Order: sequence, then structure tokens, then C-alpha cells
Amino acid sequence: MPDSPIAIPARRGKAAFVARGQTIKVINTHGEQVVDTWAFNRAGMTEFMSMEHSRAGIQRLIPAVGDAMLTNHRRPILTLLEDTSGGIHDTLMAACDVYRYQGLGCAEYHDNCTDNLAQGMRELGLAPPETPSPLNLFMNIPWTPDGMLSFEPPVSTPGSYVLLRAEMDLVIALSACPQDLLPINGLGRRPTEAHFVVA
Ligand SMILES: [Zn+2]
Repeated sequence: MPDSPIAIPARRGKAAFVARGQTIKVINTHGEQVVDTWAFNRAGMTEFMSMEHSRAGIQRLIPAVGDAMLTNHRRPILTLLEDTSGGIHDTLMAACDVYRYQGLGCAEYHDNCTDNLAQGMRELGLAPPETPSPLNLFMNIPWTPDGMLSFEPPVSTPGSYVLLRAEMDLVIALSACPQDLLPINGLGRRPTEAHFVVA
């Protein structure tokens, strides 16, 4: 059943193999969930989708429909084909990690996207070579003319999605961000599941 939606459980990660030419539809099932997204070249995972290389290629802070995200070898890896979410995503923020939550005052372990990447890849028998900066789908980080950034709730709605095309055989990894101290997953600060479909 290649067309069935695969769950990204709340606060967890999921990874999948995707062949060149296939599409990945990332669905914001409940509407306000940020999904950290990584893509690694299946043939050599030290080549991966890179936000800094992509921004140089597309000359935008947020990819628009038709834009191809690039690898750290400056080759297209994912093209944005459709976006019903309102078009607000983030390419600036690092994945959350234990240090981020320590800095926000967490004394105990907090779920985080960096560990979710490793967990999702581990289920495929893989390990990421590092934690690249992710494409933070649905994450709303507006900027001001003087360069100030802020963490805001998503503008996406339930069931909205982005459709991406794989430009090489790759491993996709997605994390339903467990951030519940800032409002990036909605003012209710309740991380939820999301879904994706590889077709
Ligand atoms: Zn996160």
C-alpha cells in the first residue's frame, strides 16, 4: 500500500526510502504542527539537503512552488510542487536538541528533533552523518526589515500539505517537533502527529 499515509507520531520521528521521481506529501493533519524535514542522498549520506546551499540557489528565505532545494554539493534533491499550507516555512532555525531545551529551562530530558532524526533513521538501519539544518515545514519565523526574528504559531490549517518531488534516490526523515515551551506548534503548545505519503 505505497499510497497509505504514514504517521509521524506526536513528538517523534519517521524516515523512509524514496526513489528519484517519487513524491512525498507532508500533511499537517491537525493544522499547527511543525515538521522538521531532512533528505539524504541514498548513495552517500554525507550529501544531504542544505538550507544554506538552498537559499543561495533559490534566492529566497522560504522555498516557493517550483523551487528546488539543493544539497551541500549544490545538486537538486527536493522540488516543491504544491503547497496548500499558506506558504510559510522556515529555513533559518536549527533543529531543536537537548541543549535547546536546557537553555529554555528544562531540567529533565525533553523530546527533540535531533534525537527524532536519529530514531527515525535507526528504524531503517541507518545513522545520519550529522544533524543538518532542517527544512522546517509549516514553521512560522517572520522577520522584520531590521532583521529581527520571532517564533510564531503556524498559519497552516488542518489537512493542508506540501508536495515534494525527489530529484535523486534519497532517505527522507521527518520529525513532529516536540516544542511545547514556545508557540511554534500553536498557541496551545500541544505537539501533535502529522502524516506523509510517498507515491
Ligand atoms: Zn523540534
